[in-house]
Amino acid sequence: MALIDLHLHTHISFDCQPMSTLAGACDAALRTGVGVLALTNHYELDGVLAGQIRSPDHAQEERELLEARQVFAGKLEILRGIELGQPYASPEEAERLLSARPYDVVLGSVHHLSNGVDFYDVRNKDLPNGTLREMWRDYLSLLYTVASETPVDVQTHICYPLRYLPTEKRREITGLPGGEREQFTPIFRKLAERGMALEINTAALRNPAAHLPVPDPGLELLKLYRELGGEFLTLGSDAHVPGDVGTGLREGARLAEEAGFRYLTVFRERKPYPILISEVLS
Ligand SMILES: [Zn+2]
Ligand SMILES: [Zn+2]
Repeated sequence: MALIDLHLHTHISFDCQPMSTLAGACDAALRTGVGVLALTNHYELDGVLAGQIRSPDHAQEERELLEARQVFAGKLEILRGIELGQPYASPEEAERLLSARPYDVVLGSVHHLSNGVDFYDVRNKDLPNGTLREMWRDYLSLLYTVASETPVDVQTHICYPLRYLPTEKRREITGLPGGEREQFTPIFRKLAERGMALEINTAALRNPAAHLPVPDPGLELLKLYRELGGEFLTLGSDAHVPGDVGTGLREGARLAEEAGFRYLTVFRERKPYPILISEVLS
């Protein structure tokens, strides 16, 4: 059995360069032992609707997907996915998008807050006292909205804001009463209740800007997810260049195992299929 990477961006995404081709990503997948790869380009619902982010060219993406499936047939399974950013921004638009193509997997992400601010952009700024905590509360409530109301299969990179904050700023928010355990409990309960999956995102392992170069989420949150009935876990490198495909997935799979999980999940036609972690790592 091979590794499974359910999170990949190519030049179709607004934040990738032309060199990020699907063919290049598939070559890289084969080199790193990935046998299942999901193409999940960004669709930032709020940004596209507001005309701030260009709408991805899905016709072109589809041509490239079908071509890659032919070229890599028998060697690599390539799934049709999408990463919906701020999927709560317009339920109608989300519905329209998801019914337009037969997706295998739909990722749901929070990249910025209700006021449009991204944690990444304020990570090194001096903010008025209490501002970060307010931002974090807003972020958690948006994660809860994704988990409880939106039509996605996988909740992605839930600790995204924590990766890039310097240690003392990170403590300022995770040190709130109850800590991470209390903060994430309602979100994990919803994921479990709705049969959704939680992603282990490995992007921070290779990003020099990350102050926390570990899989996202870490061991304690994975244990909590399991304790609360969480069953489905996916792995994603979140590669934006072909060379990053598959990176950190072994670490992610081992962490899942350490947290007590025996299976990872692959989505096909939006249904979860279990894969033994021991087989993925063999
Ligand atoms: Zn994302
Ligand atoms: Zn992504």
